[in-house]
Amino acid sequence: MRARSLLALWAGKVAAIATRVGGSQGTSFPGLVALRIDPRFIQHASNRKHVTILLSGTNGKTTTARFITAMLEASGKKVLANPAGANLSTGIAAALIRNLSWGGSNDYTHALFEVDEHALPTVAQALKPSVLLLTNLFRDQLDRFGEIDTIASRWKEAIKKLPVDSVLIVNANDPRLIAVSTGFTGRKVFFGATEPGLLGTPNLNAADSTRCPSCGGVLSGDRFMAHLGVLRCGICSFRTPTPDVALLHYRPEETGSKIGLMFEKKNLTLQTPLEGRFNALNLVAAVAVARTLEVSEKSILAGVASVRQAFGRAEHFQAQGREVILHLAKNPTGYNEVLIAITERVSQPELLLALNDYWADGQDASWIWDIDFERMAASIQQLTVSGVRAGDLAIRLATAGVAKEINVEANLESAFDLALKKSSDQPLHIVASYTAMLFLRKLLVRRGLVTKEWNA
Ligand SMILES: [Zn+2]
Repeated sequence: MRARSLLALWAGKVAAIATRVGGSQGTSFPGLVALRIDPRFIQHASNRKHVTILLSGTNGKTTTARFITAMLEASGKKVLANPAGANLSTGIAAALIRNLSWGGSNDYTHALFEVDEHALPTVAQALKPSVLLLTNLFRDQLDRFGEIDTIASRWKEAIKKLPVDSVLIVNANDPRLIAVSTGFTGRKVFFGATEPGLLGTPNLNAADSTRCPSCGGVLSGDRFMAHLGVLRCGICSFRTPTPDVALLHYRPEETGSKIGLMFEKKNLTLQTPLEGRFNALNLVAAVAVARTLEVSEKSILAGVASVRQAFGRAEHFQAQGREVILHLAKNPTGYNEVLIAITERVSQPELLLALNDYWADGQDASWIWDIDFERMAASIQQLTVSGVRAGDLAIRLATAGVAKEINVEANLESAFDLALKKSSDQPLHIVASYTAMLFLRKLLVRRGLVTKEWNA
């Protein structure tokens, strides 16, 4: 490592010790310090002796990264990963600082980083990954991310600059990503569903792109999740490709789900404690990465079995003798998938919905109008809305046609107690925006209902 990068590493390590002593949990701060000293720290601190994997996309980054890490570890590899959410350059730099010795050496075989959509071009340029996984591009909170077409065109430019021996792994059901991948001349691996009809209820309300990325023509075919589907253009020759790693079917079980997939002409059935078909897609993406890295089927199976729910993602716990499930939902497509996963399990759901409008949640709460509450409104048995935007949620749910009384309690802690008190013996499902989820989870830790998870 060159002198300047080594100095940045030391400063980062000192900053890490200082923040620990100070009691702060700022996971990215040491990275910020190192990048101030050496703006090219990531590039110089990471070497190409180990395999670097980057993954980006709107939804599913954290869970997919967990699956990939588990599969690699089951095959005996040592994986360096960034904690969920620390997915900007500073978070990646901080992860490197934590895992490098003071002399700059390391003993990991694989580095796996989830990367924010906007940060991807810079990070990919610095790290020159062996594998780049693109999961999906959905419309996110509008004020934070702007037009996804801008992200797509920046990704397209970034992908052209990848080393030729990189492997690009892309969601075969996302027409926009297929268009993004066309500029890359190296090896491409596609993952996705082959028969959307076998995946259950379509989620089409939040469809944000229905046009052909080549000619703007209308795409026809089966969609199953927003704009994702098996699609072809009515005007030009564009069509979504046949996946190399294919999701054949998905079945919700008592706990978790069963997933059938096919790769290299072999069928494989996987059992995961995770719920929801969005997790089935995350799993297929992870298998595509694992097979590209020649992880054996046995290690894939062992890895999948070991993955539990990520922090606040359909996390189950008991409160006052009741089963409670905490879901995170950050955008219309993700929210709709959570609602579908809930109604797969209960016909008359009891819900606590919490919405904040801080920067990490999206300050413009109008995205809740793109959530398909109409689908379940009439069947909702008990409903409490909470958070800074509790009032907006109440109006949205009333408009959707909720027949029962809507309990409005802006204070999250009071709302949690109220929802528990009002509910029957059914499970209580909490669906929370990002900062509301963090707050509720802290509350649950304080009450001893869930354990603290540091690396999340
Ligand atoms: Zn076309």
